[in-house]
Amino acid sequence: MSTLVTGIAELVTNDVSRGEGPLGVVSDAALVIADGAVGWLGPAREAPAADRVLDVEGRAVLPGFVDSHAHLVFGGDRAVEFEARMTGRRYDGGGIASTVDATRAASDDQLRARLRALVAEMRAQGTTTVEVKSGYGLTIDDEARALRLAREVTDETTFLGAHVVPAEFAGRRDDYVELVTGPMLAACAPYASWVDVFCEPASPHAFDGDASRAVLEAGRRAGLGLRVHGNQLAAGPGVRLAVELGAASVDHCTHLVDADVDALAGGTTVATLLPGVEFSTRSPYPDARRLLAAGVTVALATDCNPGSSFTSSMPFCIAMAVREMGMTPSEAVWGATAGGAAALRRADIGHLGVGARADLTVLDAPSYRHLAYRPGVPLARALDV
Ligand SMILES: [Zn+2]
Repeated sequence: MSTLVTGIAELVTNDVSRGEGPLGVVSDAALVIADGAVGWLGPAREAPAADRVLDVEGRAVLPGFVDSHAHLVFGGDRAVEFEARMTGRRYDGGGIASTVDATRAASDDQLRARLRALVAEMRAQGTTTVEVKSGYGLTIDDEARALRLAREVTDETTFLGAHVVPAEFAGRRDDYVELVTGPMLAACAPYASWVDVFCEPASPHAFDGDASRAVLEAGRRAGLGLRVHGNQLAAGPGVRLAVELGAASVDHCTHLVDADVDALAGGTTVATLLPGVEFSTRSPYPDARRLLAAGVTVALATDCNPGSSFTSSMPFCIAMAVREMGMTPSEAVWGATAGGAAALRRADIGHLGVGARADLTVLDAPSYRHLAYRPGVPLARALDV
């Protein structure tokens, strides 16, 4: 069964050999989907016949958004903490403990219902791939449970036992790192593709460079790919550690020194920017232009989580990246699609070349530019083909 998707005013391919500009835009385009992949694309007037025709009537079509950083397995919410922060309280990662308590107290069905609702909410806004982290269980059983549930909705699951040091290990960080790198990792690795760590020596709740290295190296020995939360609250070792160890992505990158930018420019690690966090914690945004000028690969993601960024909207992140971080609309759209795919080391998503997975997002607008031009308007949705 093949489907011809036609009537596309503007098709973003992210393939510069296929179309105009950095997004490889083809105007008045069509594409043919067969067996879940792109089989043909080009000008609509040259389209071959297919079993079925879907006319999108002058809308723009993009590769589905790739949200490469999200925390979707949790109980409760932190709306009250958000309100307090908006009246001046500073964010230091400490509120995570309240989500840990609520997550441990929740049943599998409660966690699953929340998780599935958030994935559906994302899809309704154009996200077709999402990475999901553990990190609110922080016991062997609760972390393994989070990853088992996450695996029900995505292959991109990340073990984040080293999110914060839980209350019962207060003053015994080394003991907790031993648990994370030992029996907790062993229980979680079967359900995880990645390992991650909140490397933030400036936070009393997170992990310094040595502990982060221990977590990442243990994860690698267990066969997991590496990701890092780094340089969110202050400059620190996270970015350079991520590059040194060949992590797929280092996320946040809000506080960088020249050596961090140089390391990213010389390495293979993607810098994933999460503007929803700066928005929701009222913090300075990362300097996207500095990274782009240095030739660093920049991705955008939501960091959807109940504390520091409870948005599931990639279009909102694109709008912020353009308005607040100086990215061009095309840079932001690339970061939310191809950039996210690079951050997950995936070649089959984030673009719409022949052979790519048929993950399409359609806009109720004629151009990708409308994502930033019309902030807060629900233009994007994943297309069911
Ligand atoms: Zn995060």
